[in-house]
Amino acid sequence: MILYTLRCSKDHHFEQWFDNSGDYDAKKQDGALVCPECGDTHVGKAIMAPNVAKTAAAAAPMAACPSNPMGGGCGGCAFAGQH
Ligand SMILES: [Zn+2]
Repeated sequence: MILYTLRCSKDHHFEQWFDNSGDYDAKKQDGALVCPECGDTHVGKAIMAPNVAKTAAAAAPMAACPSNPMGGGCGGCAFAGQH
């Protein structure tokens, strides 16, 4: 069994199991690959990309201030004076 991340023409991503890579090709030929979100049958394998950008943004220093997540000063919050 092999798990592929698939992507439809509307950029929805979903995962599906196949017996092997030939099984994927056969299902694609038959139009048996369908996006669960929009029913699109124009589905292909998605490029697997590491989630680096999101993680880096979440770890940005200013995001640590709960009272002013957009930055620009945080007077009075628990993090005042620390950043
Ligand atoms: Zn879709």
